Amino acid sequence: MESDWSGSEKAYELVIVGAGPAGLTAGLYARRSELNAVLLERGLPGGQLLNTDLIDDYPGLPEVEGRELADRMARHAQKFGLPIDTVDVAGIKKMADGDFRIATNQGTVYRAPAVILTAGGTPNKLEVPGEDEYLGKGVSYCAICDGAFFKGETIAVAGGGDAAAEEADFLTRYVEKLYLIHRRDELRAARLLQKRVFENPKIEVIWDTVIEEVLGSARGMSQLRLRNVNSGEESLLDVSGLFVFIGFRPNTGLLEGHAEHDAGGYLITDRDMRTSIPGLFVAGDVRAQLTRQITTAVGDATTALIAAEKYLTELKEARRAAETVSP
Ligand code: NAP
Repeated sequence: MESDWSGSEKAYELVIVGAGPAGLTAGLYARRSELNAVLLERGLPGGQLLNTDLIDDYPGLPEVEGRELADRMARHAQKFGLPIDTVDVAGIKKMADGDFRIATNQGTVYRAPAVILTAGGTPNKLEVPGEDEYLGKGVSYCAICDGAFFKGETIAVAGGGDAAAEEADFLTRYVEKLYLIHRRDELRAARLLQKRVFENPKIEVIWDTVIEEVLGSARGMSQLRLRNVNSGEESLLDVSGLFVFIGFRPNTGLLEGHAEHDAGGYLITDRDMRTSIPGLFVAGDVRAQLTRQITTAVGDATTALIAAEKYLTELKEARRAAETVSP
């Protein structure tokens, strides 16, 4: 669907889309450089930090809760005067005049010659029957948001990556028993996170198994139908909750017009975070890269901002030169 570009315009030098660690870092540096910048976010600032319990790999903060780090980052950027507008971005497009327009569902259209997209990703779904039906009635994608609802219960976690391992370990502070269901015979998660899973007496890993269906009643989910991928054998598992952590999809759907991306849809940049669209920079989970950590998001956002600033200076000079040539 085409976005509505006809709303009242607000002009900036730089618009940053998405207030996770990458967006908040770009915003902090932008205002510190006195750029006329705005950060757009539909929810609370923090992005995936808000879905993360304890962070122990951010240098200088050996143990910090995700929510606290989000709050600190937002306040730090605002201390430098960064405006954070709560709007739902509907589309980003580079127009024929060379400036970007950022349409929002609130009607306002933002305009800027440069954009830093730090819109992160959306959790993948299993895409099995019952998953949508029991969303909020047992099925969840956010341990910190919903874990406390399962005190003393038996639940399952789907996935074998860092998120599944970390969140499974976190959820055992509430639940009595947790089944980690993984489709292969080894976890993809980092060794330290695997160790926590294997040493946790409340966690039992079910290997080589996929979830085929979420079953329950009007009161909520109560069972999973499982299939062993080697034997094909099916079984039922009694659980009152299912947390799904099977990766992310980058939020690139907002972009109107083609930007180079990899097979997973992550946007490809050069080392300065420039995309194939001049003036569009990306950082954080939306970018094609080796790993997706808070530290890499923060570092890449710093580079993106410095590169965007350089781009704006050069653009200003080019526009001034063009005006001199053709009065
Ligand atoms: P991920 O690393 O892509 O892992 C996804 C997991 O889900 C894999 O084990 C994968 O299985 C499984 N999976 C994918 N599709 C599936 C399906 N349809 N059915 C069943 N299982 C499926 O994703 P993530 O764990 O969300 O992490 C995303 C990024 O954030 C990673 O770069 C990660 O390092 C980072 N992260 C880091 C931390 C941390 O360092 N503390 C915490 C969270 C996330 P296979 O292994 O068989 O492919």
